Amino acid sequence: MRKAFTILCAVLVGCAFPAFALAGALQVAVGVAPVEFLARKIGGGLVQTTVLVPAGADAHTYEPKPSQMRAIAGASLYLSTGLEFEEAWEGRLKGANKKMLFVHTDDGLKKLPMPEGHDDHQSARGKHGQADEMDPHIWVSPANMRQMAAKVAAAFAKADPANAKAYAANLAAMHKEIDALDAELKGLFAGIPAARRSFLVFHPAWGYFARDYGLTQMAIEFEGKEPSPRRLAAVVGQAKAKGARAVFVQPQMSQRTAGTVAQAVGGRLVVADPLAPDWDANLRKVAKGFREALQ
Ligand SMILES: [Zn+2]
Repeated sequence: MRKAFTILCAVLVGCAFPAFALAGALQVAVGVAPVEFLARKIGGGLVQTTVLVPAGADAHTYEPKPSQMRAIAGASLYLSTGLEFEEAWEGRLKGANKKMLFVHTDDGLKKLPMPEGHDDHQSARGKHGQADEMDPHIWVSPANMRQMAAKVAAAFAKADPANAKAYAANLAAMHKEIDALDAELKGLFAGIPAARRSFLVFHPAWGYFARDYGLTQMAIEFEGKEPSPRRLAAVVGQAKAKGARAVFVQPQMSQRTAGTVAQAVGGRLVVADPLAPDWDANLRKVAKGFREALQ
């Protein structure tokens, strides 16, 4: 009987080990899925992540749930990209956990202004709506992610100095991967004539991607909403003049207007989710979709 009890204890303790390992992991909270990709690449098995904005939710006007605020209370770091909701909630996120390291991964990045007519973001900012509206979708650029990765690795090393070497090694590996992806994308876009370098997109989340690869992004939405028939006609006219063939659509959004536009310009729909969790595969897929739309 006693022996059986001892065995049972051993089994229970054995079962408890994964829980201990989990408790020892660096708890990292992030706003959006592409930053979770970054955190996992740099942190490997040493971190455990929580993502605030679920797939399909509006990343600009998101409001963290009470359960997420409880996760924040147990987090060692928060990785912000400077999205409107992260700026609006920064005080509350910090207030929920005074020991948490709040990391601005967008610090030092050269930001682009948002396209004209895109002022839906100000509603989430309230009083801060007067501030220059810069494009917050920084992660669609490998060049930006390169810099963000370095910031994340430095922050992890600060929060968990015992594993600093592992984070530095993971950063070096990720930089190599990003450089290879960047070279691949540059190759995909090389040789496309200037008259075919524009694309349409309902929500203009691809500004940094366009900048990196010499493309021009044209927004279909106006002030965050479906465009009026008159504005839509103007967009189609401009797109035709610029030779745009690719029409990017987010899988979560209505494809009706985008489909109409694609038909009007004689182009094709390219499914392009700026918040896809498989960051590198997604950028590759979008670049290939753009090229295929030209054929
Ligand atoms: Zn957006």
